[in-house]
Amino acid sequence: MTVSGCCSNVLVCGGAGYIGSHMVRALVEHGYVPIIFDNLSTGHAESVGDVDLVRGDLLDRQALRRLFAEHSFDAVMHFSAKSLVGESMTDPGIYFVNNVVGTINLLEAMREAGVSRLVFSSSAAVFGNPLTARIAEDHPRQPVNPYGRSKLMIEQALRDYANAYGMRSVSLRYFNAAGADEAGDIGESHKPETHLIPNVLRAALGTGPELKIFGDDYDTPDGTCVRDYIHVADLCDAHLRALSYMQLKPGAHAFNLGNGNGFSVKQVVEAAWRVTGRDVPHSMAPRRPGDPAWLVADSTLAERELGWKPSFTDIDAIIDSAWRWHQKPRY
Ligand code: UDP
Repeated sequence: MTVSGCCSNVLVCGGAGYIGSHMVRALVEHGYVPIIFDNLSTGHAESVGDVDLVRGDLLDRQALRRLFAEHSFDAVMHFSAKSLVGESMTDPGIYFVNNVVGTINLLEAMREAGVSRLVFSSSAAVFGNPLTARIAEDHPRQPVNPYGRSKLMIEQALRDYANAYGMRSVSLRYFNAAGADEAGDIGESHKPETHLIPNVLRAALGTGPELKIFGDDYDTPDGTCVRDYIHVADLCDAHLRALSYMQLKPGAHAFNLGNGNGFSVKQVVEAAWRVTGRDVPHSMAPRRPGDPAWLVADSTLAERELGWKPSFTDIDAIIDSAWRWHQKPRY
């Protein structure tokens, strides 16, 4: 795709994390100059190559002021967040402090510095339990866990910042990010790992424990939770388009990003077996608190407004991309 050159210097908060590090590569490939701000709590300095990395925390307002005083940014992409549904249920405080207070600190620093373009990593978790098979932007937002509530609070704040201060923003609501860079040298690596596809592949490889399937008594065809897996490269493509979009469109916008196809936990295990040719040792476990049964995107609005269309539409291809990364030696 071609992106019109609009915002050359881009601050990438959380640029050492899973999605952020893929984004940094995509920005460089498209001629932008990213600068990363990351506290390295979950990110990896090794995954950012020779891109400038400022180590700091969004809760440190002085550090943010210094960052904006020392650099001139045309736009900000904000990936830094706590993002585990289960953890948010048992320790909501860190979600509201990190995701809400941290982001408001960022918005205030942007405002003081006169930076008025933000692409915000939001989530399907803002919707809660779906009322329709596919979730479009006009679906009611009734999050069922503190993680989703923290993302929704920021979406609401962004509308107020648009109205009062003219801040332009695009909130991108990821469904389930998955897959890895084509070259296979950066990918998804969390400690502890809680996400389904990495856990499935680690079980298949024998580098992780057997997979626990959290709940098989949901109201879904096979009883396990259904999710819409979207490749990280397609998410990055949407962010690039969002940068261009904000040039033309004032206001606070939000788009749902998914493939529009749902796969159950059991279907993901079967796909991993097809892709890897290995058994995935697994057993049933109780439901994980906070998990909605079914989350599948309707991304028609992103297609229409951003001209975005996912290129990885096949679950086997998405898992294959993650598999190539998982087989490599890891940092
Ligand atoms: N899941 C599972 N076992 C795992 C990890 C996840 O059964 O080890 C399930 C989880 O309950 C959810 C789905 O897989 O229904 C996707 O979970 P993940 O943590 O990957 O993403 P989330 O939907 O929470 O963002």
